[in-house]
Amino acid sequence: MDVNTEKKVEYTFKAPRGTVDILPTKWTLWRNLEEAGRQEFELSGYYEIRTPVFEDTRLFIRSIGEATDIVEKEMYTFSDSEDSSITLRPENTAPVMRAYLEYELYKTKKFQKFYYIGPQFRKERPQAGRLRQFHQMGIEAVGATDPLLDVETISVATRIFDRIGLKGYKIKINSIGCEQCRPVFRTILKEKLCDHKNGLCELCQSRLNRNVFRILDCKNEGCKSISHHMPSINDYLCESCQSHAKAVREALLEIGIPYIADAHLVRGLDYYTKTVYEITHSSLGARDAICAGGRYDNLISDIGGPSIGSVGFAIGMEATILALENVMAKHKTFSQEVCGPSPSIYIISISEETKKHGFCLLNLLRKANLSADFDYEGRSLKAQMRTANKLGVKYVVVVGPDELARGDVKIKVMETGEEVVLKQNEVPRWFLNKDASMKS
Ligand SMILES: [Zn+2]
Ligand SMILES: [Zn+2]
Repeated sequence: MDVNTEKKVEYTFKAPRGTVDILPTKWTLWRNLEEAGRQEFELSGYYEIRTPVFEDTRLFIRSIGEATDIVEKEMYTFSDSEDSSITLRPENTAPVMRAYLEYELYKTKKFQKFYYIGPQFRKERPQAGRLRQFHQMGIEAVGATDPLLDVETISVATRIFDRIGLKGYKIKINSIGCEQCRPVFRTILKEKLCDHKNGLCELCQSRLNRNVFRILDCKNEGCKSISHHMPSINDYLCESCQSHAKAVREALLEIGIPYIADAHLVRGLDYYTKTVYEITHSSLGARDAICAGGRYDNLISDIGGPSIGSVGFAIGMEATILALENVMAKHKTFSQEVCGPSPSIYIISISEETKKHGFCLLNLLRKANLSADFDYEGRSLKAQMRTANKLGVKYVVVVGPDELARGDVKIKVMETGEEVVLKQNEVPRWFLNKDASMKS
């Protein structure tokens, strides 16, 4: 059929706006990223934690901050009973901290490291690269203020990108000060920006009173040229923030991680203190972040716990996979036909009668931890053989009427064409002896 004239059928139901389905063709990339993440997290002593996808709405208001874009307009908030408001988690740091406090984990050991992998939800304006359900994997190192710990988190992120073969990422870092020095800078910045109020975009004009720091990373050209001439927080950092920032930068150089100091880097969440960083990939255009993180020394006390310093990051999994696909496409190391795992054995049956025996054999093989598959479409011998070839299986097992009469099956080794006849019940053992690597 001519593809150009083929009419696309419109079905009744579609994935909700701002969501996508991750189809089987994409799972090789997703699993590689997840596995690289797990390996690096666990190598560095982080333990997995899974929190609910929804939380008490107040947790996010208290932690992320009332005057942030996320809390003001991007949360999926609803009530599940008359007196409670719940929100689909827009990020995973506050839920991890909530669990750390709720189970009093700090009582057994103050310093603990966690990692998570899972979906997050933000009601963003739908446009390219902005999903309403997106996935993050991230870490939280809770209970220490050592600047080397900030560097550890950055190094974990870079090793994940290296492990999946993502080339060309950049690390930007900045310090956004602490509760001592940030308010001073906020006042000065606000005064200076007010002088240029008319040049700011509408959103930034409203940010003047709510969240003046966000103006610094507005993508609007007018706002960009104004913030370019604004003072840098680096000139206003207190002594403690200055020495922290210096220690982070020196340690990054010592372990060979190049970075860009970006005085305008801020984060959209209120809870950050001192170090903030972003890892970007230029193939992604304007929204180029694949990882964002930093230190949040007041977050735990903000949500009612003791004063405990923490640092962590979240990797945007969709963005990372998109960047990886861009790199692979550029270097032509990528085919659209990325598939999941194929079975090693394909069972071919020739009639309804032999099919029953084939099915029993299929189950015996799978019970023996061998990856095997079978035809459910009642197709011809030839068509079944074609499928086996397409799947790239190592072995075909033929259950035909002649073999069945003798209680035998015929195994064909695809690579050599060699054929072996065996008793049905000997088949799993034969495969297990044959090739230990066939185990799924
Ligand atoms: Zn400070
Ligand atoms: Zn703006």
